[in-house]
Amino acid sequence: MKSLNALGHHLSYSERQIDILEKEGENQQPFFREKLEAIGLSPLKATGIEIMQVNMGKMCNQVCKHCHVDAGPDRKEIMTQETMQSILDTLKSTDIATVDLTGGAPEMNPHFRWFVEEISKLGRHIIVRCNLTIILVNPKYHDLPHFFKKHKIEVASSLPFYTSSRTDRQRGDGVFNKSIEALKLLNEVGYGKAGSGLILNLVYNPAGAFLPPSQDALEKEFKTALKKDFDIEFNSLYAITNLPISRFLDYLINSGNYESYMQELIDAFNPAAVVSVMCRNTLSIGWNGYLYDCDFNQMLDLKVSESNAQHISEFDLAALNNREIIVGRHCFGCTAGSGSSCGGSVA
Ligand code: SF4
Ligand code: SF4
Repeated sequence: MKSLNALGHHLSYSERQIDILEKEGENQQPFFREKLEAIGLSPLKATGIEIMQVNMGKMCNQVCKHCHVDAGPDRKEIMTQETMQSILDTLKSTDIATVDLTGGAPEMNPHFRWFVEEISKLGRHIIVRCNLTIILVNPKYHDLPHFFKKHKIEVASSLPFYTSSRTDRQRGDGVFNKSIEALKLLNEVGYGKAGSGLILNLVYNPAGAFLPPSQDALEKEFKTALKKDFDIEFNSLYAITNLPISRFLDYLINSGNYESYMQELIDAFNPAAVVSVMCRNTLSIGWNGYLYDCDFNQMLDLKVSESNAQHISEFDLAALNNREIIVGRHCFGCTAGSGSSCGGSVA
């Protein structure tokens, strides 16, 4: 399977995705900013930067069906060491507490370990979004659980379900078994084990055009099933809503679910979730050093507002702390029901 980018698909262009999402005309669905205005939260403003989320590149060993990054082995865009150095210099000048490394598969970036070591020296908490299968794909990654442990990295890993059929349908044949094997390796070094201090969180996202069920109930279900069937333990489960971007947008359109899914998100708009959307306390950095309000805006190439410096080389903490967030209809994915963020439900 290839990425939309490699296929030259029209949805590989962010402008085309935005055209679809922000369509005007008769019987149009409301704009996100209209909903914000109605609850007195427009313009949406950042409350500070507690988390710096760094997208280390679009290269990945998997090609999951619903990937909002359109990642895959055919994507060659990865962060350079020079850009990483700019990020480190920026971190040194701030007290941003957490660095969240994502991709693609961040571990595939040749400077990944160096970058982690340098962030560790600054005493910041590190999260790695590890897709699990990367640990087994090549001997050079087999020691990743030990490397993660050495730097007390928090690991967040996608596992769409606790059975192979539902996981493989979304992430590819054989992914479930490899993910289970990788989870066992992480458990073996202490990840997910009570008292170890090594955090292993799993990420669930729905297999189709529907909202995730209750995060708490799902966590109990996953914990029971994974313990019973595979003796696997983990800390928390994050239930994440699929946003209508990139390959999930392609799926929605192809399956005839686009309008109804958007309506479901809009109908489930929850003002309480708006207050805690992740863009308010997170800054997202693209593989090429550009700054975004979140990873989703990054994939739509919606950089932070033009009144801010838009590249890490021009980082201005005071301005970014109070920035106006760029929103669009895709944001309904973050505010539906219990809300959704990289840390799961927010309301
Ligand atoms: S969802 Fe994650 S693991 Fe799957 S292709 Fe995208 S970046 Fe890779
Ligand atoms: S997609 Fe979500 S996190 Fe990103 S700007 Fe919209 S509300 Fe914020």
